[in-house]
Amino acid sequence: MIEYHDGIHIKGTDLWFDAKRKTDFCFVSHAHADHAVKHNAILTTRETARFFEHRYGKAKFHTVEYNRVKRIRGAKIQLFPSGHILGGAQILVEIGGARIVYTGDFKLRKSWTAQKAEVKRCDILIMESTFGRPQYLFPKPHEIQARMVRFVEEARANREQPVFLAYSLGKAQEAMKILSHWGYELSVHRSIYDICKIYEEFGVRFGNYRLIGDGSVQDRVVILPPQAKKSTLPQGHPRRKTAMLTGWALDPGPLKHLAGCQCIPLSDHADFSELLKYASKAKPQKIYTVHGFPELVGFLNQKGYDAGLLQEATPVKRVFDQELLGNYDLFAGG
Ligand SMILES: [Zn+2]
Repeated sequence: MIEYHDGIHIKGTDLWFDAKRKTDFCFVSHAHADHAVKHNAILTTRETARFFEHRYGKAKFHTVEYNRVKRIRGAKIQLFPSGHILGGAQILVEIGGARIVYTGDFKLRKSWTAQKAEVKRCDILIMESTFGRPQYLFPKPHEIQARMVRFVEEARANREQPVFLAYSLGKAQEAMKILSHWGYELSVHRSIYDICKIYEEFGVRFGNYRLIGDGSVQDRVVILPPQAKKSTLPQGHPRRKTAMLTGWALDPGPLKHLAGCQCIPLSDHADFSELLKYASKAKPQKIYTVHGFPELVGFLNQKGYDAGLLQEATPVKRVFDQELLGNYDLFAGG
């Protein structure tokens, strides 16, 4: 019933999910680079349409609010929050008596800037599995926040400029909310600033922040997208202390090129325990995993699920490229 050809396809229909090549009609779960292609028509949320337009220009969108049931192309469909970034959505399709859910990128933990994820009962679950290995268990959110605060305080004590690296759409805004909550004033890169303005259109408020270049950064915390980590910082401390915010902080392998930079595991993906929790709540008869580690299939089978890979195994390096480098490059302008 489900197949994968550069995207997820429900056989016998023209329904595609997150296809990587142009289709006639496709659900786009969120606006990160590896999910954003200009299809003839795009089914998505208003927020994702707005981010998509910001990056790629006009496209033909069919926007739907969360939890509104619609009849589209012979199927009953519903979008609901994924908890990944603002406007991120999962899709439930009811067709031929089957309930099919595709999660897109998701996390179940509470977010400061994204709508809280929901889980719906389904027959077939197509699940994103980026961190689908047991060693990927993120610390509690308050521990991650404490590490971010400690990082800033240590930098200041050493007369160093604290700099966080976080991709422009989603992660940077999450970091901004956390740092503002702890009373820090922020200077951010243009690509992050422009995305914040769109978040504000949708009612998300940030604390004291301004563009880098708009005054000194000396008493402020700087946030840059990773590809701009060498940006000039006006009137800051002469020495920088840099931390990258990424779930891959749990696995130093893919991050070797970031020598000299601390890594703190602030992630917008589900960790291994959340992937299992999702499956137990959705109670599907069949699970397909996409993206990420193929080993998750074995763990799900051990737990009694009928699970399989929907595509060829994705090497770690490729996951890393897609989720980190791909997203970093997305809003590189400015
Ligand atoms: Zn994503």
